[in-house]
Amino acid sequence: MKNLLLSIFILTTWRLTNSQNANETIKYTNFPLPTAIYPTEYDLNITTYLPGYNWKADERNMSYLGSVSIRMEVREEMDKIVLHSSNLTIIDAKVINSDNNLEISSWVINDRNQFLILSLNKIVNPGENLEVFIIFGGYLREDLKGYYITKSTKPTGEPMINAVTQFEATSARFMFPCFDEPQFKATWQVKLTYPTGAVGLTNTIDMESIEDGDFTSTTYKRTVKMSSYLLAIFVGDVQFKETTTNRGLRIRVYADPKNIESVNMALNASRLTVEGFEELFGIDFPMEKLDFVSVFDFEAGAMENWGLIIHKHDLILGTDKDIVEVVIHELAHQWFGNLVTMKTWDQTWLNEGCATFMTAIGQTYVDRNFSQELFHITQQEEARLKDRYRPIRSVAFDKDGSVTIQVIYYSKGSSFIRMLEKIVGTDNFYEAMRNYLSQNTYSNVKEEDLYSALEAVWKTNNESIISISEFAKCWTHQNSHPTVFATRTPEGVVLTQNREAPIEKNYTNYDECGYKWDIPIWYQVAGEGGHKLVWFKRDQYELEIPTEKTIILNAESYGYYDVVYDDVSYQSIAQELENNPTMYSMSTKLRLLLDIETNAYTQKIAPHSLVLVANALRNDESELVRKFANTILKTSEFMINRLNEQNNEDLKIIKGVSTNTSKVLRKFYSSSSEQFGDYFKRNFKSDKEFCDVLRNERNEEVTNQLIDWLNTNDSTGRKHLMGFLMFCAKNKDKVRRLVFDASFDWTPLEKSRNIQFLKILNRRNIYETRQFRKFQSNEEYFSRKTNIRIES
Ligand SMILES: [Zn+2]
Repeated sequence: MKNLLLSIFILTTWRLTNSQNANETIKYTNFPLPTAIYPTEYDLNITTYLPGYNWKADERNMSYLGSVSIRMEVREEMDKIVLHSSNLTIIDAKVINSDNNLEISSWVINDRNQFLILSLNKIVNPGENLEVFIIFGGYLREDLKGYYITKSTKPTGEPMINAVTQFEATSARFMFPCFDEPQFKATWQVKLTYPTGAVGLTNTIDMESIEDGDFTSTTYKRTVKMSSYLLAIFVGDVQFKETTTNRGLRIRVYADPKNIESVNMALNASRLTVEGFEELFGIDFPMEKLDFVSVFDFEAGAMENWGLIIHKHDLILGTDKDIVEVVIHELAHQWFGNLVTMKTWDQTWLNEGCATFMTAIGQTYVDRNFSQELFHITQQEEARLKDRYRPIRSVAFDKDGSVTIQVIYYSKGSSFIRMLEKIVGTDNFYEAMRNYLSQNTYSNVKEEDLYSALEAVWKTNNESIISISEFAKCWTHQNSHPTVFATRTPEGVVLTQNREAPIEKNYTNYDECGYKWDIPIWYQVAGEGGHKLVWFKRDQYELEIPTEKTIILNAESYGYYDVVYDDVSYQSIAQELENNPTMYSMSTKLRLLLDIETNAYTQKIAPHSLVLVANALRNDESELVRKFANTILKTSEFMINRLNEQNNEDLKIIKGVSTNTSKVLRKFYSSSSEQFGDYFKRNFKSDKEFCDVLRNERNEEVTNQLIDWLNTNDSTGRKHLMGFLMFCAKNKDKVRRLVFDASFDWTPLEKSRNIQFLKILNRRNIYETRQFRKFQSNEEYFSRKTNIRIES
């Protein structure tokens, strides 16, 4: 799944709201099913009553009626069949065994656990095959979960109602009784009945359609073995455009008739990507067709349902470059997630991390000039902003108690996999990934399965220094990331490591690692091309790299950690960058600047060092490096003034890049005003309204008062939210100034949270992140809340 819109907010504003209710018991519904019985085959029939077609809508309008028959194998002695089911009307249920002598003595619905429990009249033994048959019904939902309503508009302007599913993580149970956990894989045969004139789609290709008056029934081919969360159904008013891959796989993109001409870019990108992935992974897409459908009402960005990928309309229609990224991400899931699936939800990072990582290489199939390096740096940056809140190996719950997918699984998951790739080597890595896929086809995995696949090729081709699974656990089980401190001595460079990001209360502390990591240190020595790798193990107090020369750590930005040098080192690095600018790659230089930026804001690096290094790169041959170095110099003026560390040389350098905007902003420094909290309450009904006002900049005074308020010691939670809302303002320099200044007097935790604002703002100058650009059109997400519960 691609949760595009949540990224900026999910772990900041939502978390804040949550922390205010820290004492409340958080509800969750992820109760595991017993494993005495496993489904093998489902037959699912669904009749959907949608308005807008020939049939005369009656009391069944906007509802559906279904039957499911599930063939199962008994693995342990039992006398109860327990399935997931929630908010359904169960009309009838029966169980059949080979002797036809089995009956249901009672059935109960357990709402809290979302279970349907069928008690049998006798004990059933392992090895027996059973079939359960249930008739059920329900109304189409309106909350974008389960089987729900999505609206569209006909070319004539009339509204249309369509029905679509969104099951990940645990919403299949809202549509029909099933074994709704990823580990219960089975094959599915779907038959859909819908008003004649509508289009019915599911994961597989249609075999037979029968029109019977106002309704049409279509039977689709049985799926391959897959998890319940990947089943998908769409019924409604759509048309398609079609293409075929080089080996004949049919790909279609469906959209409402009004928008069908806007699907060409998605169609082209998907063909190129499927061809590329089939070759790279060595496994063909296993079904006869692959469809994408554009819908208007969708909670996430897109969902990778096997063979029927659903996209929110603005992430498939048109030519925005985000579309390509999202299409590729969902296609990567067809292998990583669909073919090979995590066993339990706490390892969802395997799905999202692999799909995100593979998106980089997928992009090169569509655009030969795509920079994978920059893509991975973007992921690293996004992850660093958010990784203090939870380890990637964790499960979170939404306010209704269902499992939610967290942003950190994508970016940190991908950044961690990137380290694995660079540790074992790219060729070995892809060989291991092919083995991982082929060895686990149609089954479920744990993260250890990925590590053993990597270790197998690495050990064959090298003498491995570390165990991948030992290395991995401190990165996946601990939140946050290490900061490596480098100090110059006469003999070399001495490294120490520390976790710098403050950790909020109640987050998992993985004792075994104690917030230390085994860190692969890639470094480049002055005057030498290429880089070297040494290991800084978590049980080492310090590591010395003996050298008289200047070295730059985390060369190529392969590693997921910060580096902070001492002042002497920054001097020599700046000198080296000026003397030998072409010796270092764009990634190495960007990494250096990004680390300097982060750590100068938290005052771990003197502004003078920041100015030296940024100045050395301000005329760099890479436009990105150049722009970013100049942005950093601009922002450093705030810091220097505030810290009272005016150094004439520094100021002279900065003067060359300063803009008028920052001078205009200076007046906000000293002015005082009423408490902004009161002002806010009086003037705005909602955060969204406030955002609109800021965006339109009709009222400059609002922005000014906010700045003053943020400088007072008022509620930090509110401040944080307001700080984020400042992204609605058009004048980004103003926001930058405001946040830096306001965060000065805050606690380390608040400060480190608010560095996010600055980083996102500055980052915008080097690469426009999708999240940032999407943000302004999606204020409705402000109002969303979630509860987060950690399981280690
Ligand atoms: Zn995904």
